[in-house]
Amino acid sequence: MLSIDVYTSDYKPIAATPPGWGGRQATWPASTATLIHGRHEAALVDALITLEEAQRLTEWIRAKDRTVTTVYVTHGHADHFLGLSVVLDAFPDAVAVALPEVVPYAEEQLSAPVLAYWESLFPGRLPARTVAPRPLTGEVITVEGHELRPVPVGQSDTHPSSVLHVPELDAVVGGDVAYDGIHMWLAQTDHEARMRWLAALDTVEALRPRIVVPGHRDPAAPGDDAAAVIAASRRYLHDFDTSVAAASDAGEVIRAMTTAHGERGNPYTLFASATAQFPDQEPDAER
Ligand SMILES: [Zn+2]
Repeated sequence: MLSIDVYTSDYKPIAATPPGWGGRQATWPASTATLIHGRHEAALVDALITLEEAQRLTEWIRAKDRTVTTVYVTHGHADHFLGLSVVLDAFPDAVAVALPEVVPYAEEQLSAPVLAYWESLFPGRLPARTVAPRPLTGEVITVEGHELRPVPVGQSDTHPSSVLHVPELDAVVGGDVAYDGIHMWLAQTDHEARMRWLAALDTVEALRPRIVVPGHRDPAAPGDDAAAVIAASRRYLHDFDTSVAAASDAGEVIRAMTTAHGERGNPYTLFASATAQFPDQEPDAER
């Protein structure tokens, strides 16, 4: 018998103040790490980014008296796996894996220039040691004989992305395919990528889950109800895509999205997503 528990790490201030953001404190979206556990063993999905939050995560796992045997990394963005070394130090027999096509992207995040970017956002707060996941061999991860199935989905806020399907729990740990109560990171997408992201949500829905755990969710978000999380993520992607098509500058996108989705957390994400759509314009949040 498996159980699922989700750890949500709160919004974090980032050090870099982007031009046009108006001197307000920019924050990084609240992120999840998910534990799928049996009586003694557990698999962890994603491992957060800062030293402090990864330590809190391992304390949270230890308090459950479970031993992590596998850490699965859903996609190659460092905010989902720089905490790996902390988790592996706490559970030295655990293996960290990702789909073979995800591994090169994770490794690239550990290259000096990209790591310097993350360090500029969180100076002095990243774990000293970095570890990339290894390519998963085979099709499944097991926890005490129960199967967890990685499913490639193509595009989310990056490509390639995956989710982890737990058939026995009717659950999908969604990585960044689904968000809940938080602006979605669309800075690296164009129209075509957003259409592929919508297709990734169709792939998740086709697994007929009851639970979808979003990679980023507001700490006060109501839960992991699959239908609600998928519908809200779809609506956001559609609305963003439509507003970009109709707008002549980033400010118009920000205004339209704030009217429709202003209750979502982490407005800095919307600012970054909108300004990236108009690379030739000076960013100006006040517009
Ligand atoms: Zn993410």
